[in-house]
Amino acid sequence: MGDDAALEAFRADAREWLAENFPPPLAHKNPVPYQNDAPYAEADPDWQLWRTRMAERRWGAPGWPEIYGGAALDAPRVRILAEEMRAIGAFNPMKMTGYTMLGPTLLEFGTEEQRAQHLPGIARGTVRWCQGFSEPGAGSDLASLSTRCIDAGDHWLVEGQKVWTSGANHADWCFALVRTDTTAKQRGISFLLIDMRSEGVVTRPITLISGSTHFCEMFLNAVRVPKGNLVGRVNEGWGIAKRLLQFERDSLSEGRGEGASLLPLARSRVGTDGVGRIADGDLRSRLVAHAMRAHAYNLTMTRLAAEAKAGSAIDALVPVVKTLGSDVAQARADLAMEIYGDRGLGWTGADYAPDELDVSHQWLHARAFSIYGGSYEIQNNIAAKRTLGLPDPASAR
Ligand SMILES: Cc1cc2nc3c(=O)[nH]c(=O)nc-3n(C[C@H](O)[C@H](O)[C@H](O)COP(=O)(O)OP(=O)(O)OC[C@H]3O[C@@H](n4cnc5c(N)ncnc54)[C@H](O)[C@@H]3O)c2cc1C
Repeated sequence: MGDDAALEAFRADAREWLAENFPPPLAHKNPVPYQNDAPYAEADPDWQLWRTRMAERRWGAPGWPEIYGGAALDAPRVRILAEEMRAIGAFNPMKMTGYTMLGPTLLEFGTEEQRAQHLPGIARGTVRWCQGFSEPGAGSDLASLSTRCIDAGDHWLVEGQKVWTSGANHADWCFALVRTDTTAKQRGISFLLIDMRSEGVVTRPITLISGSTHFCEMFLNAVRVPKGNLVGRVNEGWGIAKRLLQFERDSLSEGRGEGASLLPLARSRVGTDGVGRIADGDLRSRLVAHAMRAHAYNLTMTRLAAEAKAGSAIDALVPVVKTLGSDVAQARADLAMEIYGDRGLGWTGADYAPDELDVSHQWLHARAFSIYGGSYEIQNNIAAKRTLGLPDPASAR
């Protein structure tokens, strides 16, 4: 069988398997189980079933080697699988912090022992990870972090505080940046894996404007961490963190231009004119402009994936697509809100239908897209320096 025919055969298999195994009630819902505290997700039997089936099929981490729970699919097959899932509104239930950020990082920097210990649980979606990077005094300027990590002979001793740690209160493990040298900034940082059940780890959820409590303050009070939990070498964690942030931004950019078309929704909510067009001409033209922009964004993402596969360096574009993706997704949330009108202003209560409540919560949640994973302004600074080659104002001073 030629390459194309083999790929088409894979597509047909994937389509058939997805049709048989993806629970239809989950279509077009993409719950990230513990990162928002929707009553949904893990308590939902359909979600559980979907995760189990995907784990058995090894399609939660389709490109990872089989020994780590993956299906060892090549890049074209991974892409086809994603396309077929998208076509029916399916999602990858393993696509959480462990899978999108730590997994690829361990594949690149972890020891064989670390990979064997941690990757299979991520691929099965049974072990939850959180990201312990930000601190009260270190957000955009992450390298200012001060959580101290001292070599205590047969273990590391960690003392400090993290903040905005998504899902920390439900996580089993945390990958954290810690300071191992106070005399250097970036070169004094190490990358550590911390078991959240360790004595001295305390989490305190923070309530957000959207009502969600998905992220936490995390206190590390004299936490003992085994020596083998260091990824890479001491004081060389910054390079690993930068790579991980690229994986994070990559994954955040994925899917930002997607979602069911808003046009049918607008037709039914706003009404149509005599020829079947959305009655409000101004809204109609903005919806069409957004649909075109989202489509262009999706095409750009497809092109970048193809370029990456062909070996082109696309790293310089990661901050650009992160910013663009946030824009597109926030514009979608704004338009959805507008379509619902005052029905989109509900917060709780039986006076509003679930989709009406969802639209206001989604709108507020979308505000965060341009903050987490590196804020809008910081991404633009990086793009100015690395993508456009503009002078760095800090070094010009
Ligand atoms: C929903 C959500 C989930 C998160 N989850 C996690 C998580 O799981 N783990 C984790 O470690 N962190 C997490 N974060 C934290 C996130 O990474 C930080 O919020 C982000 O890096 C910005 O840091 P900050 O909030 O301290 O803002 P600051 O760094 O204080 O920035 C405040 C404002 O100043 C701007 N600014 C700062 N420096 C500059 C500059 N040099 N030039 C121009 N403008 C600048 C920023 O763009 C921003 O608008 C999460 C955040 C959110 C919103």
